[in-house]
Amino acid sequence: MNDLAGKTALVTGSVQGIGLGVAKALAGAGARIAVHGLATPEQAAEALEAVTAAGAPEARFFDADLRDVAAIEAMMAELADWGGVDILVNNAGIQKTVSLADADAATWDAVIGVNLSAAFHTMRLAMPAMAGRGYGRVVNIASVHGLVASVNKAPYVSAKFGLVGLSKVAALEYAAAGNRESGGVTVNCIAPGWTETELIEPQIQARAADHGGDRAAGVADLLSEKQPSLRMTSTDEIGALALWLCHPIAHNVTGTTIPVDGGWTAQ
Ligand code: NAD
Repeated sequence: MNDLAGKTALVTGSVQGIGLGVAKALAGAGARIAVHGLATPEQAAEALEAVTAAGAPEARFFDADLRDVAAIEAMMAELADWGGVDILVNNAGIQKTVSLADADAATWDAVIGVNLSAAFHTMRLAMPAMAGRGYGRVVNIASVHGLVASVNKAPYVSAKFGLVGLSKVAALEYAAAGNRESGGVTVNCIAPGWTETELIEPQIQARAADHGGDRAAGVADLLSEKQPSLRMTSTDEIGALALWLCHPIAHNVTGTTIPVDGGWTAQ
């Protein structure tokens, strides 16, 4: 069902968290994996080992800082030489919770740069070759915050709403590329709710502090406010959905945003 043998996937921010979960899922279906992120040599080596153990026939590490357009361009040129990007997962993201009044220009620039502008650059550079091959997949890891807002997240919500819009435009521009047999070129967003990774640890710790440092109580508090299932999503579960979107069977699923949020955005 999910044979990605012969395909190459770039997963940004895949040295940990959701990105690593997605990279392992794609590796498990036989894709070559470009692991990417800001990482120590040890963390990069561990991620490469994890995707290889999951089944990747080849894996390479890229460390482009996504706030730097020239670094993105250099990485995409290297990837073109490595065989090109068939599957592009724009996953890297940063988050800072701060009120609109207290947010400064540097915070805005960094959050928009990593969560939105980087995806614009990787997509504009990777997608023409996807169309040429008749197969391509862009999976953008947005958020429930690309669909609804929360207080104290102006830069993050703006970036994620922007990513959803960018994905729809790209889906339309490439909708007719390829065919059913080749798999076509699709662009979709996954919109996770609370998913237990380092990204949300500061928010968990802030809630835990309200409960005498009890982390489990902090998690329960976060979930009860927004996520009706009262369960976190695991990174492997996001990986399984990304993998399905990459299969040729999903050739007509494009321009969508799929929440994995325990009912958050159904409310
Ligand atoms: P994480 O903090 O565990 O991982 C983030 C990754 O992004 C890391 O690999 C890091 O190296 C990379 N990164 C950050 N800044 C970078 C930069 N300047 N250049 C290159 N790489 C950079 O976070 P996560 O929870 O796995 O988040 C992955 C994606 O999922 C993000 O886009 C995030 O917004 C989204 N998301 C997460 C949740 C959640 O609850 N965890 C919910 C909704 C959406």
